[in-house]
Amino acid sequence: MLRLFLLSVLTSIPIFAQLGANPLSPMREGLDRKEAVKITDNIYQAIGFGNTFLVTTPEGNVIIDTSSVLAAPLHVKLLKARSAGPVKYIILTHGHGDHTGGVDLWKEPGTEVIAQKKQAEFLNYQERLNRFFAIRNAAQFVFPTPPAMAWPGDEGAKQLATIFFDDKYEFTLGGVKFELYSTPGETPDHLSVWIPQWKAAFTGDNFYASFPNIYTLRGTEPRMALDYVHSLDKVLTWRPEILLPSHGPALRGETEIATRVKMYRDAIRYVHDAVVMGMNDGKDVFTLMREIKLPEHLNVGEGYGKLTWSIRGIYEGYAGWFDLNPATMYEAPPSSPYADLVKLAGGPDPVVARALEVLQKGQAAEALRLTDAALAANAAHRGALEARLKALEYLRDQSKNSNERGWLEYSIREAKAKLK
Ligand SMILES: [Zn+2]
Repeated sequence: MLRLFLLSVLTSIPIFAQLGANPLSPMREGLDRKEAVKITDNIYQAIGFGNTFLVTTPEGNVIIDTSSVLAAPLHVKLLKARSAGPVKYIILTHGHGDHTGGVDLWKEPGTEVIAQKKQAEFLNYQERLNRFFAIRNAAQFVFPTPPAMAWPGDEGAKQLATIFFDDKYEFTLGGVKFELYSTPGETPDHLSVWIPQWKAAFTGDNFYASFPNIYTLRGTEPRMALDYVHSLDKVLTWRPEILLPSHGPALRGETEIATRVKMYRDAIRYVHDAVVMGMNDGKDVFTLMREIKLPEHLNVGEGYGKLTWSIRGIYEGYAGWFDLNPATMYEAPPSSPYADLVKLAGGPDPVVARALEVLQKGQAAEALRLTDAALAANAAHRGALEARLKALEYLRDQSKNSNERGWLEYSIREAKAKLK
């Protein structure tokens, strides 16, 4: 979730762990827990953003995901209280920092760390953009912006895995067979783990209690909707009786799991196909963001991923940025006429008045656009900043989505700082 999800970039920011996160940060999920959850006699879950799983066998333990640098020390403590056996394998469902943050804490001499082979490039991609992501992660997850950091180069990430695989990897430990499958979705390097003898599936971030973040506001390469669909299909063929996502609680029961996973898959497929049909009909992305809604029987919620962002993510993931308007081909940004238009309108004051008027009607996004224009004419205009703050607070109060609230809070803090 990624719901959630701290980014791997954070693992490269030691200061983050020292600062802790702001009390408002979703990254603090599970930090008040006193013990790990027993799922079965051999599977334990430390709850967090994200979860860490411990699987015990007579010949040693397997760790599946390691949470963030913030949560990992607690997860290690809670899970080692359940079993202090040697850690033979660490499996990383993908390279986001809320899954990789505790690798160094779990690793012992001889521990193998397993990842899908695209993780090498995925970690490089995150590190290549280290400062870009650090700033955005700090905003989205509500913690202080870290200081400037050195650029490690294009292939400069610290690699974590000792074993990379392509489509499938399996091993047996203490008589327990672990099957690992490439299941791209949230990331290209995403994998899922299947333990046939316990009918337990560990699905990382390809399934959680919200429509997926097919686009995340902190920035991402395109996440392909059909990858999620195909990867969830693969999980369904196993007919799991326990499903262990890396965010949120475990699901139990073959029928319940099949119903929930099919609904999730079908919701993604529905939105994907609606976008594709709209693109083929010549519709623009904003029209599709307004038009496409999930039917009630596929309503999986939008507490983390948001439909409109995913619609745009799918559209632009396929087509990129050009919107057929020749003005878009050139360097002048859409905001380039703002200052002129505001002057022609009689200055920022009437524009701010109009912003407050549309805000009264509940059109907060339009009000924000008007304050963008007024502030382009005068960046310190008090009325424009106050109207902007009102629109942001209105949107925050309406929002049921944690990422949306995170970004609105960030902009609210920014507007307040300018008003001081
Ligand atoms: Zn995650």
